[in-house]
Amino acid sequence: MYVIYLRKSRKDSDLEALGIDVLKRHEETLLELARARSLPIGAIYREVVSGDSIDARPEMVRLLSEVESGIWEGVLVMEVERLARGDTIDQGRVQRAFFYSNTLIVTPGKTYNPAIENDNEYFEFSLFMSRREYATIKRRMQAGRIRSVKDGYYVGNIAPYGWRRVKADDCKHFTLVPDEKENPVLKLMYDFMGNKKYGFQKTCSALTGMGIVSRSGKPFNPATVKTIISNPVNIGMLRWNYRKSQKAIVNGKIATSRPKADDYILAKGKHPGCISEDLYYRANSVNSSMTAPVKRSCRIQNPFAGIVRCSCCGRVMVRKKMSAKQPRDYLICQYAGCATVAIELDELENAVLEWIRNYIADYKVNNFESADDSEQESLRSILVNLEKEKETTLKQRGSLFDLLEQGIYTKEIFFERSTALEDKIKDFDKKIESVNADIVRLDLSKKNRSTFVPKCQELLNAWDTFDAADKNTALKNVIERIDFTKTEKNARGQRHSSFSIDVFPRISR
Ligand SMILES: [Zn+2]
Repeated sequence: MYVIYLRKSRKDSDLEALGIDVLKRHEETLLELARARSLPIGAIYREVVSGDSIDARPEMVRLLSEVESGIWEGVLVMEVERLARGDTIDQGRVQRAFFYSNTLIVTPGKTYNPAIENDNEYFEFSLFMSRREYATIKRRMQAGRIRSVKDGYYVGNIAPYGWRRVKADDCKHFTLVPDEKENPVLKLMYDFMGNKKYGFQKTCSALTGMGIVSRSGKPFNPATVKTIISNPVNIGMLRWNYRKSQKAIVNGKIATSRPKADDYILAKGKHPGCISEDLYYRANSVNSSMTAPVKRSCRIQNPFAGIVRCSCCGRVMVRKKMSAKQPRDYLICQYAGCATVAIELDELENAVLEWIRNYIADYKVNNFESADDSEQESLRSILVNLEKEKETTLKQRGSLFDLLEQGIYTKEIFFERSTALEDKIKDFDKKIESVNADIVRLDLSKKNRSTFVPKCQELLNAWDTFDAADKNTALKNVIERIDFTKTEKNARGQRHSSFSIDVFPRISR
């Protein structure tokens, strides 16, 4: 949401003398600007007193404290000078507030983004300050931040994962408290990595399996988890300047990189840690390789590695090498208390190949194809409708400005409606995204279906030329998993055991 700030300046006095309501005019101009850029407006602050210092301007005091707490995406104002024109201290205060909270300043001529500090335009933002002054202030701010970190305060704008930023006891600085929602997830990550010895990938899958997503709403990825669990903030420490931005000119443009620094500051934080140091170091000592646990050097010996599960206990079954007593390879359930009986590998292999042959024969006969197209079509029409509805809502948002201008809506109703419409638009965006994802998923499964039979055919044709590792790859290509059931031991001399397999093909219907 954005806010409009209106304030008279000395140069308006001529117009005022002609009886023109300058602020009213500015309000119209800025509302027009908001409409043109489709910026949602949450409030309009109109300064009626004309003090130069911030403290003499009540609306400015309010605006500044809101900007400092980061509640506005941006402030619409006629010119930057309308924000600050007092002494240097006031200017610094304004600049600092926008700078720290990353709040945009939108004027009819230009949008200033304090986050782009090296942008030449940024120095225009500090028009009331010379480049030198600005550099000095920035250095002082930096020194102040370092001082604060050493004192144990949190100086970042965004709290690290698992934490929430709150005002410290001195009411000036910030510190961290565990975030109700994220902190349990953080602890879970340490438990997975430190106690259960999961790798990064497995940790991510486990979280995703529990329906837990990252702040951005996407599933966690190994790199993010690594960044999160290696942050000493979790054991009550603060790290600053670990990854300070470094700028370089690349192809005439400014490129920013954030290499890991070795001269960073590590200080004891005011906040207590939420993880024991012991667990912290254990979790971070996990081998950082993010690949599957199979070592490259030794080829897989079991064609069913990771595919066959015991139907009794759900565990993955493993190969038992041949021995003097048992001249053939077997697949067994390693779990001591489990009733599942071992199966000879060759016997299982034949059964699986047989299953594949039958499946593709059925598949060709029944040709499951057509059914899904109707689903795709209905999804597409849902999408079209959603987009239409969103379009209508966007138009409604536009006409809000008219209703305000015509005096049909009071400002209160205007803000109320515009917030409601904003929520509605976000809701449409979410729905559109989810329908799109469904369409993509259906497309993929359609493609998958058309390649599934050829893949199986290929596997059957080349099977005899495969070694165990090739067989494993080929099977994993077409089969998700096989549940194996066998509870009776073979009778003496019995060649064919009685067992059953439940095969889950890697294909979506
Ligand atoms: Zn078992």
